[in-house]
Amino acid sequence: MAYEAVIGLEVHAQLLTESKIFCGCSAVFGGEPNTHTCPVCTGMPGSLPVLNRKAVEFAIKMALATNCEIAPHSLFARKNYFYPDLPKGYQISQYELPLATKGYVEIPTADGGKKRVRITRIHMEEDAGKLFHDEDGPFSYVDFNRTGVPLLEIVSEPDLRTPKEAADYLRVLRAILQYLEICDGNMEEGSLRCDANVSVRPMGAQTLGIRAEVKNMNSFRHVERALAYEIERQNKVLEQGDEVVQETRLWDPQKGITDSMRGKEEAHDYRYFPDPDLVPLAISPKWIEEVRKGLPELPLERKDRFVQQYHIPEYDAGIITSSKALADYYEECVRLFPEPKQVSNWIMGDLLRLLKEDDREVEDCPLAPQQLAEMLGLIKDGIISGKIAKAVFEEMYKSGKGARDVVQEQGLVQITDEDALSAIVEEVLTAHSQEVDAYKKGKEKLFGFFVGQVMKATQGKANPRLVNEILQKKLR
Ligand code: ADP
Ligand code: MG
Ligand code: ZN
Repeated sequence: MAYEAVIGLEVHAQLLTESKIFCGCSAVFGGEPNTHTCPVCTGMPGSLPVLNRKAVEFAIKMALATNCEIAPHSLFARKNYFYPDLPKGYQISQYELPLATKGYVEIPTADGGKKRVRITRIHMEEDAGKLFHDEDGPFSYVDFNRTGVPLLEIVSEPDLRTPKEAADYLRVLRAILQYLEICDGNMEEGSLRCDANVSVRPMGAQTLGIRAEVKNMNSFRHVERALAYEIERQNKVLEQGDEVVQETRLWDPQKGITDSMRGKEEAHDYRYFPDPDLVPLAISPKWIEEVRKGLPELPLERKDRFVQQYHIPEYDAGIITSSKALADYYEECVRLFPEPKQVSNWIMGDLLRLLKEDDREVEDCPLAPQQLAEMLGLIKDGIISGKIAKAVFEEMYKSGKGARDVVQEQGLVQITDEDALSAIVEEVLTAHSQEVDAYKKGKEKLFGFFVGQVMKATQGKANPRLVNEILQKKLR
């Protein structure tokens, strides 16, 4: 039987506020352990939380950018559980009456269209601390710098069908968060995290299958790999006539498998109840309108502008604007070398290929816009050919050197001296007298062969236009 997968994501985004969500401590990542702490975020009895207005403003931004309805009143609730990284014994979150509901975003599809992914809810909550376990010693350590850092939890409807769609959805969310400048989107540092709920069902079925929740995926690649593995695993379970167990599973990136972490019988009962220390959150229409007016250009708007302003294809514009860092990179290159289509070709082709091979994000691209612009200038001035440029590009990417330096060091300057080239062409024709005869008898296809031989003799450095001209003359 054919099965289809059903996926819904719960995404956590750490907000870039200066202070924490319920106290004045710094919310900045890192710092000496337990230095960004106070009685409130370490859960001292008698301390009282005060809501950070900026965090609410950021949440409103995200809700607007994802087409959500914003609740005029929402509630903070206590989610009770014990864990050493949670000093209060409960996490302040939202449960009934979250800040925003019923939104959607659009993800690109393979056929160039788009698919709508519905967002069930967006709510605010506080992050927990971090535990460090001694590898061989008897101790574990806790760092409370992260407790109380504001988070948004963004929950999708089970609208995703493939690992690729899930990763694309996550990319779209990340782009929006970054464009809004409310989250840095760094999955490795954990400022953007994702739990995936996955089930499979017979193709065309209307009801949902039993799901497993997969955790611990800290890059887009891991999200795709973990989901592919989990779908395959569930397919096998069903094919054997068994039932999928509802449970939480951990992705193991080393082994490339998901493994059971806790089953349903260990499922939490969090005993949510409204936090008596916090009044309901009231968001006025006026505040929402103010935030709406202050929204920056979002990915889809930037894409439209790129098509208008730079006349690049919609496809290119879509990919380039799908990451704020990449779009910024592109615009900086175009500012330095104002030929937008050419810049886009190099970014869409060579740059993204090399980044992908290294599993790197544009944020850690070793090649600065200045270097790409410099290289494009060398092509334009006829100093290097487009073909040589490919090698120069790779070398710049690997070594971090400038275009001129690479060209000089490796002696890659294009041969544009007509006499020098004439001599080389002459040698090639002499060496291939049989082909020359055949060509003159009408086998015109051989022209390309001669061009190729000249390029080979010059290690690709001959100016192709000149080679053509000289060959035309000599073969007449
Ligand atoms: P919980 O709070 O227990 O994790 P939710 O009902 O909030 O459960 O669902 C969490 C996520 O799981 C949502 O993104 C939702 O779309 C997804 N989901 C729910 N049921 C299924 C299912 N059967 N298959 C796949 N995803 C599901
Ligand atoms: Mg869940
Ligand atoms: Zn504090």
